[in-house]
Amino acid sequence: MAENKETLGFQTEVRQLLKLMVHSLYSNKEIFLRELISNASDAADKLRFEALAKPALLGEDELTIRVELDKDKRRLAVVDNGIGMSRDELIDNLGTIARSGTAEFLEQMTGDQQHDSQLIGQFGVGFYSAFIVADKVTVDTMRAGDDAAVRWESDGEGEFTIENGARKERGTRVTLHLREDASEFLEPLRIEALIRKYSDHIGFPVVLQVADEDEDKLVNSATALWTRSRSDVSDDEYKEFYKHLSHDFADPLTWSHNRVEGKREYTSLLYIPATAPFDLWNRDAPRGLKLYVQRVFIMDDAEQFLPLYLRFVKGVVDSSDLPLNVSRELLQQSPDLAAMRSALTKRVLDMLKKLAQGDDYGPFWNEFGSVLKEGVIEDHANKEKLAGLLRFATTHGGGDVQDQSLDEYVARMKEGQDRIYYILAESHATAIASPHLEQLREQGMEVLLLTDRIDPWLTDALHEYDGKALVDVAREALDLPGGDGSISQDAMNEEHKPLLKKVRKVLRDRVESVNVSRRLVDSPACVVSGDSDLSPQIRRMLEASGQALPESKPILEINADHPLVARLSAEKDEQRFEELSHIVLDHALLAEGSQLDNPAAYVHRMNKLLLDIEGHAHSD
Ligand code: ADP
Repeated sequence: MAENKETLGFQTEVRQLLKLMVHSLYSNKEIFLRELISNASDAADKLRFEALAKPALLGEDELTIRVELDKDKRRLAVVDNGIGMSRDELIDNLGTIARSGTAEFLEQMTGDQQHDSQLIGQFGVGFYSAFIVADKVTVDTMRAGDDAAVRWESDGEGEFTIENGARKERGTRVTLHLREDASEFLEPLRIEALIRKYSDHIGFPVVLQVADEDEDKLVNSATALWTRSRSDVSDDEYKEFYKHLSHDFADPLTWSHNRVEGKREYTSLLYIPATAPFDLWNRDAPRGLKLYVQRVFIMDDAEQFLPLYLRFVKGVVDSSDLPLNVSRELLQQSPDLAAMRSALTKRVLDMLKKLAQGDDYGPFWNEFGSVLKEGVIEDHANKEKLAGLLRFATTHGGGDVQDQSLDEYVARMKEGQDRIYYILAESHATAIASPHLEQLREQGMEVLLLTDRIDPWLTDALHEYDGKALVDVAREALDLPGGDGSISQDAMNEEHKPLLKKVRKVLRDRVESVNVSRRLVDSPACVVSGDSDLSPQIRRMLEASGQALPESKPILEINADHPLVARLSAEKDEQRFEELSHIVLDHALLAEGSQLDNPAAYVHRMNKLLLDIEGHAHSD
């Protein structure tokens, strides 16, 4: 073994990925070429960027990507004269995956080819896809500005070697030693077709060179796709460009390509993916657009151009005005940035609005809906627009329907209804069975069923839509149209004063007050919150995260027409009255989704009551 040669182990995640990938992408082998050409194109972009500060780096040669085929030796190589890699970069880049959450993500793989290939598609495999078709991969590279070449080699099993290399010029050559079952990729016509399919839109020439043939062949058209006019680009080309950009395997749901001229000049090409990346919920995961200035690549993940809640958008922005030496810090201070950001945000929202008119909106909503809700909370300027894009489960038609918009709700509002009603709950089942809905249901009034973790914050931020107030049906002050809204709570209580007083006395440590309810039909009681109290959902979340909250007691509402309440009212035995009162409250709390402070006491009371009934039955 040469003195400078080291054998190193892949990071565990890489090892897992390699194993899974060969299996799950077996029927999608050809994508390796797209991934390698994408990497080569990125490397050329990065070289051009570094050359802005150090022009000497660029040299005489045109930035070019070459695909070399040697059928006899069963070799396919992708060669670039881009940025190259140093020894340390090589070890980092092709030995580890620096994306937090990867290990957990890989755990979700099942061994089912279809399922796994979809998951891997969202993750993006990049370089490692070479092992789908190769049983050995050799990478020869030299970092621009260095003069030491390095060679990396691996059979994709668990280890790789690093040694001094023989490459004479900057850039990278990735050589694949093709497996027996990958012979199709030795056919020049097949490769030419693949290059055209995958790389026509790349801004660098891609040249095919076949061993023993003199002529190199320029295969792609070598103009960056976003620089072309919209009418010249086919849907398939847009889709391929998206895959190149995002390393996603699936087609995007939609895109929007625009050139802005005038005071500020820039082009943007924005895509909505079909599936969420595995780290969508990691608010620190890399995100943002690819920034070019006058066609020169400047940076990946330029997050300044879109708000955080649009972190799922992929795309390119190419500015004619920003200085070529723009850095993240300079970008932040640029007077153009705010205007571009709000224009790009508007583009995305318009694109979603359009999407919402078609069949693809359901799938979009399932993947990204909760992220849009963040927008309603964070983006005041676009709140109403975003609210129009929200979808909810509701009680429409007395039932339980999904994906309803606020516009649909408003269009169905009953005569005299001027509010949008909603209920917050931890689960759909709790919401739909909630006693709070009874009277509204009776009156045919539709209620939004809000069960996302973010919903209590959403309703905190969204007080009205289309001029209609959003109203929580579990708040004290609910007044229902056509109901007894005109009668005050005090007046309603008056009639049952002695009972309320007695119950309040028994439950004084557990409830704020006891009222006669106007929202119940079938249930004897429910709990509601004071109008300025935290909702119980937010309370529970804050408590679960360890926050100490000031004590707050619910308001108990009883249904004066309910037989159980009548029985309570008629109960002469003091102790039984107390126990029954506690049980009524316990049940109201349970139905709302609360946990009882003292479940054992409840069980004890309940058992006693059951035995009591039994006793009655026997003595009858
Ligand atoms: P990704 O491209 O998604 O970052 P890859 O696994 O494809 O992931 O590549 C990992 C890293 O290796 C790249 O980010 C890049 O830094 C480096 N790399 C890969 N191919 C090349 C190349 N041809 N030239 C220079 N660097 C490369």
